[in-house]
Amino acid sequence: MTTTNQRRKTVYMDHAAASPVDGRVLEAMTPYFSDLYGNPSSLHNTGREPRKAMEDAREKVARLINASRKEEIVFTSGGTEANNMAMKGAALRARRRGKHIVTSTIEHISVLNIVKFLQKSGFDVTHVPVDRDGSVDIGELERAIRSDTTLVSVMYANNEIGTIQKVDEIAGILEGKDIIFHTDAVAAAGKIPIDLQRTRIDLMTMSSNDMCGPKGAGALFVRDGTSLEAVTQGGGQERGLRPGSEDIPSIVGFGAAAEIATSEMDGEGERLTKLRNRLIDGIESRVEDAFLNGHRTLRLPQNANFRFSYVEGEAMLLNLDMMGVSVSSSSPCTSKSLLPSHVLLACGIPTEEAQSAIQFTLGRSNMDDDVGYIVEALPGIVKKLREMSPFSARNLEEMQSSAGHRDACDRKGH
Ligand code: PMP
Repeated sequence: MTTTNQRRKTVYMDHAAASPVDGRVLEAMTPYFSDLYGNPSSLHNTGREPRKAMEDAREKVARLINASRKEEIVFTSGGTEANNMAMKGAALRARRRGKHIVTSTIEHISVLNIVKFLQKSGFDVTHVPVDRDGSVDIGELERAIRSDTTLVSVMYANNEIGTIQKVDEIAGILEGKDIIFHTDAVAAAGKIPIDLQRTRIDLMTMSSNDMCGPKGAGALFVRDGTSLEAVTQGGGQERGLRPGSEDIPSIVGFGAAAEIATSEMDGEGERLTKLRNRLIDGIESRVEDAFLNGHRTLRLPQNANFRFSYVEGEAMLLNLDMMGVSVSSSSPCTSKSLLPSHVLLACGIPTEEAQSAIQFTLGRSNMDDDVGYIVEALPGIVKKLREMSPFSARNLEEMQSSAGHRDACDRKGH
C-alpha cells in the first residue's frame, strides 16, 4: 500500500509485452510515410531512396548480431512470422531426408504452435525438458537427436523468466551434423551481445518492438548456405521468402532501433542489471515467501519474475495496476487464457504456485525511483491478498481447526 509519504506514480514494467518506440526511431521513420513513399522495387527515382533506406536498415540489423553479410537478414512482420518462415521452411525443405524436430518445453507459444502444426502434417517432435531454472537439459537434447532429425529449435533466452540458454553448447553439439539450428532470439536480441560469427546458429528470429522499434517488424537471420522452402507465395521480395511490398517505415525504424541497441547495449545492459538486481533484492528482503523464477545469473538484464505463495497472480496484477504499476502475470501472448504459464509448469513449479507469478520487464524509461515505488508497494498488497487467501498457511490452519470442530460437533450429534 502507498505510505503517507509515497506519491502515486505511473510505473511501466511490462516491456516484453510492448515497448515505447524510441524518439530517435520515430524520427528516422517519419519521412518514409509520405515524403519518401516509393516502392523499393520500382526502378524509377521515387523507389531509389526507400530501397537505399531498406538496405541501410538491413546492414544495421546485420551489425547488431555480427552477421557476415546483410543479405543474411530477411525482413518480416515480426517474431511470429520469422518463426514460421524458419521452422516450416526448414522442416519442409528437408522432409525427404527426415521428419524429426527437436525443440524445448519452454518455447514461445508461436514456436509450440508451429511444431503442433508440423506434427499434424506428419512430423515427429521431441520436446526437451528444462530444469527448475528453465535451462534446457543439454544431455537430453543430445540424446534426442536421431538420424532423421533435420531441425533443432531452442530459444536464445526465455521471454517470461529471462533464462539465457546455452546456445553455444547446442551449436557445438550440432556442429558437423546435417541439422539446422534455429533460435528464437526475440527476448535476447538487442539486450545481450549476440555474435553469429562465433556461434553456429543457422536461423535466428528477432522482433523490432523488443528493442524499442515499431511493432509489426522483425527479421529472420538466414545463414548463407541454409536453404528454406518459402511458406508464403507471391512476388520475389526478400529473396522470395517474404513476398509482398515491404513496409519501409517499419523496416527503417527497426534498423534505427538495432543501431541504437548496438551502440548502447553495454551501458544499458549494465544499468538495467543493477536496477533489476535492486528489484530482486528489495522483493526478497521485504516479502516473505517470494521466490525468483528463472536462473539467478544466466538471466536477461531486463527480467525479474517472482512467484508469491498463497497469492493469485491476476489479483496481484490488478492491485498493482490500481497503484499505477503495469506488469504481467504471464506472457502477453498467452495471458488471456488465464492458464498458468507453460514455462513455469515446465520448470516443475506446481500449478498453484505458477498461478502466483508476476513478471517484471524493465526498459529504457525505468529509473531508480520506479524500483523503489514497487518495492514499497508490494509488501502491503501481498499482505492484504494473503489475509484474504484461503490457501495462506494461517487461513488453512483456521479452516482445518473449524472443520475439526464441525466434525466433533457432528459426532456428538449437534
Ligand atoms: N518469440 C518470443 C520469445 C516472444 O517474446 C514473442 C513476443 N514478443 C514472439 C516470439 C512473437 O513476436 P511478435 O509479437 O513480433 O510476432
